[in-house]
Amino acid sequence: MSRVYVGRGSSLSAAFLRVGGHALESRARSSIVGAVVWLVIVLIAPPALAEEAFAFPDHVQQGAMVIGRVPPGSTVHYAGRILRVTDYGTVVFGIGRDATNGARLRVTTPGGKTRVVRVAVEPRDWPIQRVDGVPPKTVSPPPAIAARIRREQARVSRARKTSDDGLGFAQHFIWPVRGRISGRFGNQRIYNGTPGSAHSGMDIAAATGTPVKAPAAGRVVFADPHLYLTGGTILIDHGYGIGSNFLHLSKLNVHVGDHVEQGEVIGRVGATGRATGPHLHWGMTWYNVRIDPLLVLDRR
Ligand SMILES: [Zn+2]
Repeated sequence: MSRVYVGRGSSLSAAFLRVGGHALESRARSSIVGAVVWLVIVLIAPPALAEEAFAFPDHVQQGAMVIGRVPPGSTVHYAGRILRVTDYGTVVFGIGRDATNGARLRVTTPGGKTRVVRVAVEPRDWPIQRVDGVPPKTVSPPPAIAARIRREQARVSRARKTSDDGLGFAQHFIWPVRGRISGRFGNQRIYNGTPGSAHSGMDIAAATGTPVKAPAAGRVVFADPHLYLTGGTILIDHGYGIGSNFLHLSKLNVHVGDHVEQGEVIGRVGATGRATGPHLHWGMTWYNVRIDPLLVLDRR
């Protein structure tokens, strides 16, 4: 009789095949070959075939940063963008303050299978916050100043357009300064009685000069001590579209292009620009979508 070579189990298979006659031999041979093929698929198949390669929260709140997992090498479409996927299959995106529909991602795995992932979005209450005593020229600026503000805002949004492959976004974010939250993300702001836009970040009360630490690693993509509305301003790119901005600073310790580690001092708290007193305004974004730093800090 012939021996069947099926890798490491060949002597065992051969011993087994010797027991029976021809019919049994061929049946046994095909079932053993089948089992080996199955084993090989389980051991070396790409994770694309495994359900657990996908991991997303079922639901998130408005303003959330959402981190999910897909099979590495997948192509992920979301909100008109192709999300970059880390080597581990991690993807990240932001949910806007006013998002009403759930997020819908279309994932095409390296094997060519397409799957739709949905993440439900829970609405939040956005209270009205009256801010009085703001310098009037910052609430209704004269035309020349309005033009300056537009130019400065264009520079800031340009800095947000690109984002590198740093993995700071996936760290557990730390508070840049410790203090009372004096203004929450998303509040509808009324400045000196005039409705303004929703509060784009989180205000933390702290004395002028308090060191401001990078909440996660990243690269400095904007640093200007003298913006009209936001005063001393720093933007950090945490990678994959996630960024932080720090406003009203009295001092800047970093320059554009610097890499900062989590916890590194990047500047000092101040009251520059449109501010009624010393505090840190910490905003976060996914590209141009504003997200809530408090939800990022609270992320499991
Ligand atoms: Zn603020």
